[in-house]
Amino acid sequence: MKLVLIGPPGCGKGTQAELLKKKFGLPHISSGNILRAEVAADTAFGRKIKKYMDKGEIGPQELITEVVLAHIEKNCPSGFILDGFPRTLYQAEELGKKYDVVAAIYLKVAEKEIVKRITGRRTCKKCNRIFHVDYHPPKKAGVCDTCGEALFQRDDDTADTVKNRVRVYNEETLPVLDFYRNQGVLREINANVAPDIIFEEILHIV
Ligand code: AMP
Repeated sequence: MKLVLIGPPGCGKGTQAELLKKKFGLPHISSGNILRAEVAADTAFGRKIKKYMDKGEIGPQELITEVVLAHIEKNCPSGFILDGFPRTLYQAEELGKKYDVVAAIYLKVAEKEIVKRITGRRTCKKCNRIFHVDYHPPKKAGVCDTCGEALFQRDDDTADTVKNRVRVYNEETLPVLDFYRNQGVLREINANVAPDIIFEEILHIV
């Protein structure tokens, strides 16, 4: 099963990818998590991409594509759930040269909902589980329910950066929807609802 989750920042890609991973045992490949790990490890690549990530920009996409594809090749012998990749037409084409995506699931969410979701988002440092201070708070404030690690707010999850991330999404990622629409694999879901309802819809599709 080779799935792509696609949609604007805050549409719930990461949350749904984790639910799918739990259900089907497939690897959840988040390009954002891969890149943040490089930044945290202070690698040469991490230092190169940090300034783009802080602003919500795409950055050196040939290099990023190479890194993400290598990650898929190494970790996904029997399928994947991609989250945040492909983000541009170039990335969709490069992915398509190696893999046949069976469904690109488009999580469609209203723009006014995006800022609320993103600024309240908190992520686990260790297992990357996602919470929200209002919509899905952890049992103990600031602590992950699953592994007990501290939750953090991503540097780019601020109201200012969100605007730029939405602009970049509209310019760079919207064409990817047409790419998959033309291939007949795009499936659109209303993502303005609660995560469990979105998940039900996804299960119908897959
Ligand atoms: P995300 O966790 O998907 O919201 O991604 C966070 C940031 O990482 C983005 O705003 C980009 O700066 C960078 N990023 C993530 N995925 C990609 C990608 N596929 N191509 C280029 N940059 C990416």
